[in-house]
Amino acid sequence: MSFYLDQQSVSPETGSLGTRFLIYPQVPHLEGYEKPETVWISTPPDEIQAGPADRRMYVIDPLFEKPVYEYPFQPPFVGAAFPPAEAGPDGHFDHLDPSSRQFVSAHVFASLRRILDIWESYLGHEIVWHFSQTYERLEIIPQVNWNNAQSGYGYMEFGTELNDRDAAFPYALNFDVIAHEFGHALIFAEMGTPTVQANRQYFGYHESVSDLIALISLLHFDSVLDRLLRSTRGNLLTMNELNRIAELAGDRQIRTACNDRKMSTVSDAVHDLSKPFTGAIFDTLVELFHRSAMEKNLVDLPDDISHDRLFELGHHEIELINARFAEAFEARAFLLKSTLENARDLLGSAIARSWSTLDPNTLNYAVAGSAIADQFDEMGEKEAGDILMENLEWREIVVRT
Ligand SMILES: [Zn+2]
Repeated sequence: MSFYLDQQSVSPETGSLGTRFLIYPQVPHLEGYEKPETVWISTPPDEIQAGPADRRMYVIDPLFEKPVYEYPFQPPFVGAAFPPAEAGPDGHFDHLDPSSRQFVSAHVFASLRRILDIWESYLGHEIVWHFSQTYERLEIIPQVNWNNAQSGYGYMEFGTELNDRDAAFPYALNFDVIAHEFGHALIFAEMGTPTVQANRQYFGYHESVSDLIALISLLHFDSVLDRLLRSTRGNLLTMNELNRIAELAGDRQIRTACNDRKMSTVSDAVHDLSKPFTGAIFDTLVELFHRSAMEKNLVDLPDDISHDRLFELGHHEIELINARFAEAFEARAFLLKSTLENARDLLGSAIARSWSTLDPNTLNYAVAGSAIADQFDEMGEKEAGDILMENLEWREIVVRT
């Protein structure tokens, strides 16, 4: 469990502490996220080289403009490169100046390495890259002249985001984009890649689960959990009215996950098609958190309300839930936070463990959703599986008798 991961920050092989880096949980031009935060990655300082690089991945920052990778132009990059990010005298990387080029390299490396730690802890084993027959390590190109980012065979590369004021921001500083792109690579590694033409729902699944990987990874920042609970007064149901919560307006992962789309209300376009699946899983997270908070008597709600469908609650009921959660948040903020962390880890584990049971050639939403419910069952959390199946039914993904 990654809650455990947070507690230890110790390398299992050497028993040493991991290595410190600085990461922005959200793009730094977003209000409230201007300062990078300290994270630990599991690789100990004596196993990290300049780049940064370790035995799983390495950063190389081309000195001259490199065209984006596209077959037959493939890694490894062998041209001239900018000086790599180097550790400080203490072996850690949190000394780098956020305005330097080397900081960007360290940021994208640490983000990917941290996300890998989180998902390996959910899986309970080391992830083998889907490109491992060709490349030993993942190559990371932190900055290319391109208005996009991509995850490909043996590499990830990051361009820049141009905003409406013509300012350019490196995607390598955007944890959301990094985590989403990496999500695709994690799914490929664990589930395999299709050998026949996959169906539309396979592609929708990839987008959806990459978004969920980004969201669950984001929820590992203490500051993000605090901000989420503070802005909703502990009641995640209010995210359904997210547009009214200005403080969360920039958090794309949460905005995407919090939707009310059903299969009959989306098109075949992949990003649209991904929404019902994402919504069903996100509602399950919210319900797991809510039920657990009630079971632990952190929040006192009447039974008839607590078992209603999220989107079918009336105005009066929502007001009551808001009031009770706000009371609980005032009195027990830390217990609510650990309850949310537990729900997050339960969901992350079920999603991660479902991958190896799925066949990319035949995957559809109903099969993929049931596979997650089965993993809840296997972990002794049958009720969580039932909640998920109800949510999949409401989204018109499964039909149950
Ligand atoms: Zn994607």
